[in-house]
Amino acid sequence: MRVLIGGGSGFVGRELTHLLRSKGHEVTVISRQPGPGKITWSDLKSKGLPPCEGAVNLSGENLMNPLRWWNESYKKDLFSSRIDTTKALSEAIAAAACPPHCWVLVSGVACYKPSLTAEYTEDSEWTPFDFLSKLVKEWEAAALLPQSVAKTTRQVIVRPGAVLGRDGGAMKQMLLPFWLGLGGTLGSGRQPFPWIHVSDLAGIIAHALEAPVDSAALPPPQVYNGVAPALNTNYEFTKELGRLMRRPTIFPVPAFAMNALIGSERAVILTEGQRVVPQRTLESGFQYQYPDLTSALKQILGS
Ligand code: NDP
Repeated sequence: MRVLIGGGSGFVGRELTHLLRSKGHEVTVISRQPGPGKITWSDLKSKGLPPCEGAVNLSGENLMNPLRWWNESYKKDLFSSRIDTTKALSEAIAAAACPPHCWVLVSGVACYKPSLTAEYTEDSEWTPFDFLSKLVKEWEAAALLPQSVAKTTRQVIVRPGAVLGRDGGAMKQMLLPFWLGLGGTLGSGRQPFPWIHVSDLAGIIAHALEAPVDSAALPPPQVYNGVAPALNTNYEFTKELGRLMRRPTIFPVPAFAMNALIGSERAVILTEGQRVVPQRTLESGFQYQYPDLTSALKQILGS
């Protein structure tokens, strides 16, 4: 299968590219920069969709970019880097003479309202309630294909929690403070911490791309929660990471400090959380490599 991956040069994209190539698929990345194995977003606009059987979008300005202050210009970039690229891909798919069999958008679990008790499956109703949930709403809407194309192209949305891996995402920023013994719970620590190992997220995307064509009968778009089946809190995550690193985790960071440090609209990802259940992901037959925190963290720390 030929797969086109918007943002394929990033943390999740590199893992997905590696997995797809190991399965014998061909990958072309869409990037802002030209290079071998890549096309640019301008190429996509001017020349249209290159021949492919699968398309994925993983593009987006990093939400936890430590170099960006939380202000209007950053918020605008978070929106445009996701919505403009998703729209560019869905429009190119709609205009293609031979559209791909499957189109996967990777969005996020921020659409579900943080709660200590509510559990969310892919079928849970939600309406936007804050900055990040509005972002998810517009992002997923930008991926929708017109009815005529939706008959031949299966539309999939994967909503990941915090993606854990050695080479990017939250872990990359957490390992040093934990190593120095400065790790601690965030906020109350009781909030859910939906997470997934990067290999499993890549696996879910590949599983969606490779699904038999007859699932096109399902109503579009098909949502998969990209989280591990283990439901953990921030406290459990912090303690397990500290235990495996043999480091104390005695410095809690209160929510107000996180809000002041990175802005309350994004601190919410860390200081609050959602209990997200990967119901459809499990029902689809996907087999997790790292279904629990201990196995996921051991792999990351050992690599
Ligand atoms: P990365 O931060 O690694 O970024 C992915 C790619 O997006 C980059 O390689 C870059 O490609 C492109 N990009 C970055 N900034 C911009 C911009 N301003 N405009 C256009 N393109 C840009 O993302 P991840 O791999 O970590 O995540 C993939 C997707 O999954 C993202 O959309 C993210 O929001 C979502 N997600 C990630 C989570 C995580 O914990 N990592 C959690 C939940 C959702 P290039 O430089 O080649 O153009």
